[in-house]
Amino acid sequence: MAETSATPHVEDFRDHLSIVDEKGKRKWVHPKFQAGKIFTRRNIAAYLMLGLLVAGPFIKINGHPLFLFNVVDRTFIIWGIPFFPQDFFLFGFAMITFFVFIILFTSVFGRWWCGWACPQTIFMEFVFRRIEHWIEGDSQHRRRLDKQEWNWEKIWKRALKHFIFLIISFFISNIFLAYVIGIDELKKIITEPLTEHFGGFVAMIAFSLVFYGVFAYLREMVCIGVCPYGRLQGVLLDKDSMAVSYDFKRGEPRGKVGTTTGDCVDCHLCVAVCPTGIDIRNGTQLECINCAACVDACNSIMEKVHRPKGLIRIASFNQIVKHRKFRITPRMIGYSVLWSVLLFILSYLTFSRPEVEATILRAPGQLFQKKDDGTITNLYTVNLVNKSFDDHSIELKVVSPQQASLSIVGTPLAVKQAQVSDGVFFIALPSGEVKQMKTPVEIDVLADGKRVSGIKTTFIGPVYKQHQQEQEESKEEEKASTEHHD
Ligand code: SF4
Ligand code: SF4
Repeated sequence: MAETSATPHVEDFRDHLSIVDEKGKRKWVHPKFQAGKIFTRRNIAAYLMLGLLVAGPFIKINGHPLFLFNVVDRTFIIWGIPFFPQDFFLFGFAMITFFVFIILFTSVFGRWWCGWACPQTIFMEFVFRRIEHWIEGDSQHRRRLDKQEWNWEKIWKRALKHFIFLIISFFISNIFLAYVIGIDELKKIITEPLTEHFGGFVAMIAFSLVFYGVFAYLREMVCIGVCPYGRLQGVLLDKDSMAVSYDFKRGEPRGKVGTTTGDCVDCHLCVAVCPTGIDIRNGTQLECINCAACVDACNSIMEKVHRPKGLIRIASFNQIVKHRKFRITPRMIGYSVLWSVLLFILSYLTFSRPEVEATILRAPGQLFQKKDDGTITNLYTVNLVNKSFDDHSIELKVVSPQQASLSIVGTPLAVKQAQVSDGVFFIALPSGEVKQMKTPVEIDVLADGKRVSGIKTTFIGPVYKQHQQEQEESKEEEKASTEHHD
């Protein structure tokens, strides 16, 4: 975390978590509701994100989901493009590109993802906490309710709150499952007899309980202690990273109005509104999710005490200390170049991917067969992966050696949309053309008459015997010619 000199009052803040008291017990965070310009923008962004998140599984392109992360069937659809286990290298590459983007984004803008786009924060702050606020009242009332005896008021408020939390968790679980198994499968679990989808039903309940546990109990602990992204902040941020920051140059020495020269009136409103319970005046901290609630809070106070707004604002450490404008650092340029290169390669690999991927292998346990007409045959297996949403009829053509012929065993090859299929075929070569133990073979794969890929394999033939035969034949020819001369 960026070291600041803004720690005159609470020097030990780095020694303990803001949500744990001296005895090691959890301190429940009840952030005060704070309206303001940033809050309005965040509200719009959050409900837009929620709308997209909920609508996502219902959006289809040509009857196929926009997103699907079916780990069970190992089928993934991202932006309408299907991916299969055979695309694992693409997935790995996409992950690397994504991580570089995260590093770049965080090093420039800090942890904005957490406060503005992360589903955990959006559900927590804009759904669950809203309901809590609606049932139990503002932060003061909630704190009072925590402390009070289990009387009728506490029982009905808590019961109602947890009942609604459970219903919403069940709803989130359904949305989550819709992304994993698809909305059509989810509909089946909901509408068809339980016995037919018992596994799906168990998953639905299990996820509901997980989400309930996260939003009713774990809450900000997920951001502080569970999510690895938060842990990375310390190494990703530098003194030029933009983040929610307290202008300690302006704010210190803090104190009640008229008692000090600093602008901070020590009202603690920035702490009261913080959903992770920290004091941003101690400097950028691991717990800060950049929600900017403290910016709105402090601005409202500055307005009241007739001091310029922006005592807490979005700024880098260097901007505050050196009063300089935002600048692009060599680190940012380096990350940007690296990310652009990775993105270019990823796009090329994704869009140049063949619609049908074929793997051809010689049938195991088989070498070659010699036919009565003198041709040698090899048996091959072909595995076809259709990476598109169209059915394809497949043709295989031997490009080289030209004398080779290819015949499919059984029905013509075909592969249905987003499916895998297998086939078997022979390649025959006149024995006279087998000049080495392994003859290189090139096969073109055609989907609906269009070449989608070219595959190289080998053809095994009885080269030793053939050479022997050729040698014998040439010896005989030699002998005959010698006898003739005699
Ligand atoms: S310190 Fe401010 S920006 Fe950070 S989490 Fe708390 S309220 Fe949000
Ligand atoms: S809200 Fe502003 S004035 Fe009040 S304590 Fe926080 S930084 Fe100081």
